[in-house]
Amino acid sequence: MNQSETAMQKFDVVIVGGGMVGASLSLLLNSYMQQGLSVALLDAQSISPQAISNLQMQQPSFDERTTAISLGSKRILNDLGVWSYMEKAATAIEHIQVSRQKQFGRVRLHADDTNVEALGYVVENKHIGVGLQSGLLQQKDLTIFAPVTVKKYHVADGGAHIELINESNQCVVLVCDLLVLADGANSEGCKQLGISQTRYDYQQQALVCNVSLDRSHDQWAYERFTSDGPMALLPISGNRYALVWCMSTENAERRIGLSEQAFKAELQTNIGFDKGRILKVGQASAYPLALVQASEQVRQHVVVLGNAAHALHPVAGQGFNLALRDAKALAQIIGQQLSTAGNVNGLKHYLENQKQDQAITTHISHLFPEKFSEPGLHWSIARSLAMTLMDLSPTAKRLFANQAMGLVGKVSAWRP
Ligand SMILES: Cc1cc2nc3c(=O)[nH]c(=O)nc-3n(C[C@H](O)[C@H](O)[C@H](O)COP(=O)(O)OP(=O)(O)OC[C@H]3O[C@@H](n4cnc5c(N)ncnc54)[C@H](O)[C@@H]3O)c2cc1C
Repeated sequence: MNQSETAMQKFDVVIVGGGMVGASLSLLLNSYMQQGLSVALLDAQSISPQAISNLQMQQPSFDERTTAISLGSKRILNDLGVWSYMEKAATAIEHIQVSRQKQFGRVRLHADDTNVEALGYVVENKHIGVGLQSGLLQQKDLTIFAPVTVKKYHVADGGAHIELINESNQCVVLVCDLLVLADGANSEGCKQLGISQTRYDYQQQALVCNVSLDRSHDQWAYERFTSDGPMALLPISGNRYALVWCMSTENAERRIGLSEQAFKAELQTNIGFDKGRILKVGQASAYPLALVQASEQVRQHVVVLGNAAHALHPVAGQGFNLALRDAKALAQIIGQQLSTAGNVNGLKHYLENQKQDQAITTHISHLFPEKFSEPGLHWSIARSLAMTLMDLSPTAKRLFANQAMGLVGKVSAWRP
């Protein structure tokens, strides 16, 4: 068949984007697929057993980064049967310390104090990809179109139409009751449907690499606010840390170009010596940082999800965790509506349920880096005092811990 011969296929739900969030939604819909819900998942990159076994998935979600998975997210992934693939590569976070470089005041959280197995887990994204994609390939009722190029989106009263070109250069039109756009922060789907994505540029980049120190990490994760910008040191396998260090674009470009010795020296100054001496740093890469928010998340026959709906500053490690809670809440609504999944009243109900969680998580992720780097003595004293008081207040610590662990929003969204 050539491009002029167009095939048409109908589904209840079409998910565009098989990154962390689109793949998770697909898995969350599995039980409804067994009740007859028809679902298709599209991605621009292929999804194959070979890529999974060689850790060579091409989706941007599954690159060299690491992700802090909250306890709530781990429970969702466990229920989906995919945590077992990630578990071997996961490091439990038993303690978290939030502090400021050269300032008094810090907050410390311990899993033991909150009676949980761990405050969260750190997993290399490639292993998250192995888990999610292995799960996808086992979904016998799911139709996967990957790799494809989506040409056109059109939404009318009867549903959404997605025109795509597949690997064999065939033109295929998918018609569905619900189109889920999980195609990332530069969503082509949003653009074509006239849904604007506002972008607040932090004028910062996140420099990401692995770091080995001469002391054991003992399952401690550190959030540190330095004069350059916020950084996170997350414990990972092999007694290493995954570093996420946010700084001006200029500094990121300069530091990427440094020799390992010079980079180690600058990093050591910023993390201090209490965690040990840096032995080795891995290959560093940089990610430009912006808060991206879709102007609309639901309309008749359409939902915008994941980074396409809200891409957050990574310092608090909340982007995927929030999107996974969204996906779980959305799957429940789809399960109630089944063949009328795109009914806007149900979709509005989904958004109403998630609004508070989205607002709190977005504000925390935005205010942390902004307020903690505000110059001036008054701010500096206020922040140090706030951290000291929080460290002394069990209630404030519990609220903070619940947010970090993803045990927020509607209880049914995270309880196993
Ligand atoms: C440095 C850094 C560290 C982070 N750390 C954490 C953390 O510790 N914890 C946490 O919770 N979050 C973290 N995040 C956020 C997390 O990475 C994102 O929330 C997550 O990757 C969003 O996934 P997504 O599936 O929505 O989007 P994406 O990863 O962008 O995936 C979009 C998918 O859509 C596909 N696609 C795009 N366009 C098309 C098209 N036209 N047709 C078909 N397919 C298409 C792409 O191939 C891709 O697979 C971090 C982010 C950064 C930058």
